[in-house]
Amino acid sequence: MPSFFDASRDCGDAPARQGYWSASGVVLRRREDPHEGFRLLAFLKGTGLCWVNAPWAARGRRRFGAATEPLSWGEYRFYQSPRRTTLQDARLVDSYLSLHRDAESFREALEACLWLSRLPLGIPGDEVLGLFWSHFRALTLPLVRPPLRVRFLYRWLRVQGSAPELRRCSRCGEPLRGSLAWGRWGLECCAGRAEVPPDFLQDLCRAAMLAREPFVEWVKTRYPGGLSPSDRARWKEAEGWLQGFFPEGRSLFQKGEGS
Ligand SMILES: [Zn+2]
Repeated sequence: MPSFFDASRDCGDAPARQGYWSASGVVLRRREDPHEGFRLLAFLKGTGLCWVNAPWAARGRRRFGAATEPLSWGEYRFYQSPRRTTLQDARLVDSYLSLHRDAESFREALEACLWLSRLPLGIPGDEVLGLFWSHFRALTLPLVRPPLRVRFLYRWLRVQGSAPELRRCSRCGEPLRGSLAWGRWGLECCAGRAEVPPDFLQDLCRAAMLAREPFVEWVKTRYPGGLSPSDRARWKEAEGWLQGFFPEGRSLFQKGEGS
C-alpha cells in the first residue's frame, strides 16, 4: 500500500498553480518542524488532500492561532510556489471547541480525520468533505455516537458508488424481510443465519437514508436513555460490515497513525 502520509509531497496530483489561491476545508493532521513551522494535512474543497506549510512567524512565534489545529474548519489562503504550498492567511469557521470538551465526540471526530487522511493526495472529494462537515456538526450535539458513525460510513460509500443495497437481498434479490445475515455483497435473507433482526434493518435504513434534521430527531427519540450493550454491539457489527465495502480496504480504518 502506498504511503498516503508522505509529507515530502505537497499537492499530489492537484493541478499546478503558482501564486495565491484560496480554499475552504479542514485540517486533518499536523506535524511540527522545529525549524520551519507546522506541516498540515488539509482536506480542501476542489483540491482534496494536500500538505501545506504553516511557517512560524518571526522568532519562532506561532501564526494563524487555532486555525492550524486538527479539526479546524475554515477559509484558507495559500501561496503556491513550484515546490510547496504555504499558508498565508486563515479564517476559522469552526473547531474542536464546538465538541464541548466531550472526550467521546473528540475521539470520534479525530478518528474520522485519521480515516480521511489515508485517502490519496490531490484527488478532489467535495462530497466527502461535505459529509465530514455534517458528521462533525452532528458530533457537536448530545446524541449517541454509533448511529452517527454508521451514517457517515454509509453515505461515504454511497458517494463512491459502493454502498450496499438495504432494500433487497444481495443473494436472491427479494425484498429484505425477517431475520437477515451480514453478507459480503449486501444483506442476505436466505443465508440461513439470523444476525440482523428486522427492527435493526429499519434503524440502519433510517441512519443511512434520513435527511439530517429528521435523522437527528430520530436518534434522540430512538435512544433517549443511551444505547444498551446489545444496541451498541449491533451498531458495531454494522460498522464492521460497512468497512468491508470500501474500495480502499479495511486498512483505511486501522487504529493508529500508520505509515
Ligand atoms: Zn435472499
